[in-house]
Amino acid sequence: MRLNDFCRQRLADIDAAGRRRRRRVIDGAHTPSMTADGRRCLNFCSNDYLGLAGDPILSHALSEAAGRVGVGSAASQLVTGHNAEHAALEAELAAWVGRERALVFSTGYAANLGVVSALAGKRDHVVADALNHASLIDGARLSGARKHVYAHGNVDAAAHALSSTGPGQRLLVTDSVFSMDGDTAPLADLADLAARHDAWFVVDDAHGLGVFGPGGAGAVAQAGLNSAQVPILLGTLGKAAGAAGAFVAGDDLTIEMLLQTARSLIFSTAMPPAVAAAARQGVAMARAGEARRAHLHALIARFRAGATARGLVLEQSDSPIQPLVLGDERHAVAVSQALLARGYLVGAIRPPTVAPGTSRLRITLTAGHDEAQVDGLLDALGAVIRTGVDRSASA
Ligand SMILES: *Cc1c(COP(=O)(O)O)cnc(C)c1O
Repeated sequence: MRLNDFCRQRLADIDAAGRRRRRRVIDGAHTPSMTADGRRCLNFCSNDYLGLAGDPILSHALSEAAGRVGVGSAASQLVTGHNAEHAALEAELAAWVGRERALVFSTGYAANLGVVSALAGKRDHVVADALNHASLIDGARLSGARKHVYAHGNVDAAAHALSSTGPGQRLLVTDSVFSMDGDTAPLADLADLAARHDAWFVVDDAHGLGVFGPGGAGAVAQAGLNSAQVPILLGTLGKAAGAAGAFVAGDDLTIEMLLQTARSLIFSTAMPPAVAAAARQGVAMARAGEARRAHLHALIARFRAGATARGLVLEQSDSPIQPLVLGDERHAVAVSQALLARGYLVGAIRPPTVAPGTSRLRITLTAGHDEAQVDGLLDALGAVIRTGVDRSASA
């Protein structure tokens, strides 16, 4: 087959399903008030939960470090890519989440791919929540382990899946806060289950870090789970920490093993050291960010109360991720477009990211928003959904 024919066919399939996506071009900072495709709007779809991504203090940390250490790390961590900025970042991350040691990766996707495939092999079992992040799913695929997917958030189903595994090591793998639903996994019950079934518990706290727990140490910290209960803890630095990158934290021995075996780390150029410096600043501000966290949680409560008052039914979520499930994907896209016409940028999430028939608006709140902006979004949502956007127009 000619490459052109293959590409044309694949794109035709995507178009036929109404699932072609395009990127908006953002001019300037990726902040609550921003310019997308040349138009000012309020951004309610970022993961910048503490409002740090556009903070000048982080910019200064980045440029100061770049002036001092340059831009490229020029090699893998295990060759000459590991800068003092990375080492300091790892120590600070370990202290933040209360683990012996942390290991930094360039992205969360790479971290999950590397960690899961380093821990499980062909003879092993990965027991996973049905709504786990794609990077955990792909890590399990890459490992070649047998996959056992249990119903979302269901401890009994997870127990059943664990009992049904044969010989080989078991990994129990879950997101803490689910990225498209905003709800939190029953972490304490799953930790007990993992212990009873001699499974290694892997938790991806990408959306909990900075948002929940003492000092923003995450959903795992909020659940009070230590290194014995959650021996493999993942976090990202591109969400609440406002920078980029990710890490895995655990006991020294576990982390040393991962450093020696995680292929997505070994065969990849280390993150630019200046990015590590910016992440250090973001982590410091997230740890000390009680006022930001309090403001964020007040906005979440305000949004939920306001939605209820307007007859909008939200999913169960106390996180900054507040999905409004609309069902039909064209309807979700039409509502999202109607909101944009009013100046509110809210992502319509549809298959394959979520299951067919559960297309939704994924509304995210950040500490960078203020009350008036949240109220404005609520009014726009109420108006758009009450008047009913014209479904046929967008079909
Ligand atoms: C965003 C995310 C990742 C990927 O992290 P990146 O640094 O963006 O690659 C991994 N896991 C979860 C749960 C996420 O939400």
